[in-house]
Amino acid sequence: MPASKRQLTGLTLAELTGLLDSRARALAALRWLHESEPVPTSLPERIPGVAPEAWAKVREACELSLPRIAVRQAASDGTVKYAFEAAADAARFESVLIPADGRSTLCVSSQAGCSRRCAFCATARLGLTRNLTAGEIVAQFLLAKSDAPQGSPLRNVVFMGMGEPFDNLDEVLRAVEILTQPPAPSLGASHVTVSTSGVLPGMERFLRECQAHLALSLNATTDAQRAELMPQTRQWPIAELMGLLRRSCEGSDRLFFVEYVILDGFNDADDDARRLVELLQGIRARVNLIPHNAFEGCGYGPAKRERILAFQKIVHEGGVRCLLRSSRGEDIDAACGQLAGRRS
Ligand code: SAH
Repeated sequence: MPASKRQLTGLTLAELTGLLDSRARALAALRWLHESEPVPTSLPERIPGVAPEAWAKVREACELSLPRIAVRQAASDGTVKYAFEAAADAARFESVLIPADGRSTLCVSSQAGCSRRCAFCATARLGLTRNLTAGEIVAQFLLAKSDAPQGSPLRNVVFMGMGEPFDNLDEVLRAVEILTQPPAPSLGASHVTVSTSGVLPGMERFLRECQAHLALSLNATTDAQRAELMPQTRQWPIAELMGLLRRSCEGSDRLFFVEYVILDGFNDADDDARRLVELLQGIRARVNLIPHNAFEGCGYGPAKRERILAFQKIVHEGGVRCLLRSSRGEDIDAACGQLAGRRS
């Protein structure tokens, strides 16, 4: 039955090795999938390096139906936003390609929509359509890779598009494995970052099983303040999130990214910056300050530039590296928290 076929883009090297009865053939198949130009869109009768009888087993068990690029928008700063439509059910999800310094980064979605209710995020307004499969996550990479500008090959992936990755952890872990496995795309684990709103059990499992970077979207420094922005704080308070990061730093050289969307008059005071430094004691962390990207109907607004710089200075002087993220792709609603399937 065709419906039960697996997507080739969602298979690990180990699974393909089993299916093809040979690691050498599995490597050849992955090279074909990830290195052919243009990106293959169906499974041909034969591919280089794999005996036809063995390949026939893959054709029987798998299909290759990539999502359709429904909209491709290029911003004035070179950022490109893709709105994908799933082959199976036309579910919509988005990716953002960000070229910089001779390489590109892709911000991928892990869900179509999101079920977390972060008050400052446009995706939250959509609600959840469904989880994406690993095959659909890897397909975002495949399609964007062939569209990356010459001289800025796609080398980094961040799970900061639509969705909460740790509400779809099995598929996200599988996608990370595929993106980092040989022979291609073979990204280094340090070139993949998974960002979470702070789903504690998912964080624990991720840290046990995966070497990719973890980014925590902290966004506030007291539980009361954070719960207003991110209601799940009532379930997983800040102290528990920090406790996990602190324990994970013992005996490992893991570095954590802490994301902080800085909001005008809400979490941008000197006291917030000082509390942030306190919270991060004993944690090898780098703070990324994210200017808020406004959208219609959002009750929060971007902090003023001089406030952001003062905040950054306090955190930095407290001994914590603190970078100010520049916003990219704003003119096409491709910046953080602006992915909301607008079709205009
Ligand atoms: N659910 C995951 C990943 C998606 S959000 C997470 O919460 O980490 C990716 C990043 O964008 C998060 O750090 C989030 O805090 C930030 N973000 C969300 N909405 C934003 C907005 N409107 N402006 C700026 N950053 C935003």
